[in-house]
Amino acid sequence: MTRYSPRVVACALLLSLWVAVARAATIPSPSEFLGLHVGADRTVADYRQILAYFKALDAASPRVEVEILGKTTLGEDLFLAAISSEANLAGKARLQEIARKIADPRGLADAEAEALVREGKVFLFVTCNIHSTEIGASQMAMEWAHALATAEDAETKRRLDSVVLLLLPSINPDGQIMETEWYRRNLGTRYEGGRMPWLYHHYVGHDDNRDWFMLTQKETQAVSGAVYHEWLPQVWLDEHQMGTTGPRIFVPPYSEPVDPDIHPLVWRDVNLIGANMAFRLEQAQKSGVIYGYVFDAYWPGGTKNTAWWKNISGLLTEVASARFATPVRVERNELSGGGKGLVEYGPQTNFPNPWPGGTWRLRDIMDYERILSDAILETCAERRADFLRNALARARASIATYGPADAFRIPAGQRDAAGAARLAALLAEHGVELRATANGDVYVPLAQPYGRFVNELLTPQRYPETKLVPGKEIVRPYDVSAWTLPLMMGVSAERATLPGGLAAWQAAPPALPLDGAAFALAPGSPETARLVNAGLRGGVARIARSAVSAGGREWAAGTVFLDGAAAKAAAAKAAPGQSWASIGSVPPVAEPLRAPRVGLYKPWTASMDEGWTRFVLEQYGFEPKTLDNKTVRAGGLAAAFDAIVLADLAKEVIATGKRKRDEGSMRYSPEMPPEYAGGLEKEGAAALKDFVERGGTLVALGSSSEYAIDELALPVRNGLDRASDFAIAGSLLRAEVVPDHPVTYGLPPEVAVFLDEALAFDTVPPGPEIERRVLATYPAASQDVLLSGWMRGPEAIARKAAAVALTYGKGKVVLLGFRAQHRAQTPGTFPFLFNALYWSTAR
Ligand SMILES: [Zn+2]
Repeated sequence: MTRYSPRVVACALLLSLWVAVARAATIPSPSEFLGLHVGADRTVADYRQILAYFKALDAASPRVEVEILGKTTLGEDLFLAAISSEANLAGKARLQEIARKIADPRGLADAEAEALVREGKVFLFVTCNIHSTEIGASQMAMEWAHALATAEDAETKRRLDSVVLLLLPSINPDGQIMETEWYRRNLGTRYEGGRMPWLYHHYVGHDDNRDWFMLTQKETQAVSGAVYHEWLPQVWLDEHQMGTTGPRIFVPPYSEPVDPDIHPLVWRDVNLIGANMAFRLEQAQKSGVIYGYVFDAYWPGGTKNTAWWKNISGLLTEVASARFATPVRVERNELSGGGKGLVEYGPQTNFPNPWPGGTWRLRDIMDYERILSDAILETCAERRADFLRNALARARASIATYGPADAFRIPAGQRDAAGAARLAALLAEHGVELRATANGDVYVPLAQPYGRFVNELLTPQRYPETKLVPGKEIVRPYDVSAWTLPLMMGVSAERATLPGGLAAWQAAPPALPLDGAAFALAPGSPETARLVNAGLRGGVARIARSAVSAGGREWAAGTVFLDGAAAKAAAAKAAPGQSWASIGSVPPVAEPLRAPRVGLYKPWTASMDEGWTRFVLEQYGFEPKTLDNKTVRAGGLAAAFDAIVLADLAKEVIATGKRKRDEGSMRYSPEMPPEYAGGLEKEGAAALKDFVERGGTLVALGSSSEYAIDELALPVRNGLDRASDFAIAGSLLRAEVVPDHPVTYGLPPEVAVFLDEALAFDTVPPGPEIERRVLATYPAASQDVLLSGWMRGPEAIARKAAAVALTYGKGKVVLLGFRAQHRAQTPGTFPFLFNALYWSTAR
């Protein structure tokens, strides 16, 4: 060991002190860097400013590293900042390798595992601001990062030595930018801090936190890639905001119910962290902290929720909101409970210190968030070895839940081979390991770290009927209650024994031969719409209106025939598992098919279902045009459109632009700027009627059916609107399909339909001027109607119609009572919607 003179030591100490001071001096605070007072009333940094600040931190500090995860829907850079000690960031590759082995400990000996626990660091993933109006965390993230980058105290250094913080200041950058622009535009006006009249994500708005098992959006895909393929964190915190007039902050433990297939150590980690958050908040004299309230631990649609089944300790926090960055004053009498875990506002064991009311501002939100953020970092550092050991134990338990030969099989050659290929690709994207036989059967072994996740998504749900007090009433689902992918996708996947000697899975290439004069594309897969729509725009397509033989084979009604040019255009859109047959010539009985001109109604209420519908139609090549109130009211629609689609909207929203619950309740809806107020009104309803009478096709999804029924006086009604015993929460039901109607081409005799409200049709025989066909029916009461999820009172829905088609004037109306395209998660019933659009161009 080298010996230094006291003088050298003193110099070295002085030098290190100087380096520390210089570092702090050269790393500007976010307020200094941006030239605005971060956290002040009516002041917000937008996402581009936040990214610029983090890039500056990265340049100035060896403790911060910015990583771009990908592009958002509207082309912004989605980033995370890795924040840790200089040594940890320098040794990132090794630490990632350790995290990977802890997440997948197959083949790891105990001694080796213990060595990894000693060497490894906790990877703490913190996501902020997925909901763009919940702006606080995106601002707090900058201040937190600055503090961690500049701190020289021993405690912060110890935390940064034990933990690698992976901080994402906003996981919906597009929406953060939209909301900050909208807020700045309305500052100082009567609309300050008010709701935006469009979605804060180009397609899905608030439902960006419902996409985490289906992974349809770019942001979800990028973040999931970082979590399940790159970093493999053990702990994930997602920071949200909630309403203004209840508790100030929710921290875990969660409320009921809990999914029994999630490892209990997930909840033990989560509860330990949540307890420390509450503890530190109370110490800092922050009142209004609640746990065991509203937010459950059951449904896998949200960010960190999906991660529970993948052995990650996922936490949610929810801080009360201001009016964006504008302070609100809450009077004492306005404070209310009303949710699970707090019926009346007042002290309880889970809420010992209620907030008394007063002014609530952005700075309060950021202060609460900063304390809970520091608290999770503290617990992760304190419990470093425990949390790594627990993650290891969870992964091992998941693997040991199943025998080595337990598996699911996704058979080759099934009705919708492209859908089956899509399911396999989705599981792979989730980090699930797949294998395949030479003939294309895909096997999903269950004895792997994400085995419980696989089982959750491939088997039917049975909602746990938890009661909080004795009696009849159960805790109702927070969101939907079914997510069984094979049913939702119309794909078959069954439990099977894993054969030996399988190869690793690879996506099967499409089989679309281009040698020949004509090509036949059988109906039945939603994926064919991509090919048909591309083909229609690149060449000539025809459709068989009844079964027909061609190329030595029978083709079902709904088969589309493409000429060479159409096939070439279509092949460019090919997906795995797709195929068509080369035939000699197109059968002459087939009718010409042209691309439907589709209009999609968009209210100014920021409808998520409108967004999802637009997303699905665009993804499949329908190129819908948006119709706002003004455009519909102007009329003349029949000249421009073949079909107009109404997404799932309450009839009052379509008619007036206001929700029914806004009337009579204590909920107050602030005014909208006049150009965004109102609905279709009388002129819009008349214009839609005129559109149909002149030959247009009106497609009404979900609740919009009731608007169409009322406005067109159809011989149909909702047979469940007075069924008080009936209740449902996003469940999958069995429906029998009536074959050989243009709207049911290619569908199997029985489908799983997704229903989330009391809506099923009774019809009556109409007069001769209307032709009415029921397209799908719920089975008789003696048969099981519920396939997955939760419902009450199945007798009420027995034998009612799930979907109805009618002719009307020269046009047509299609009513789909179930959610045919719910959150882009139900491809099995997309064909009802797609076929209805093709039907609109039929003579
Ligand atoms: Zn939220």
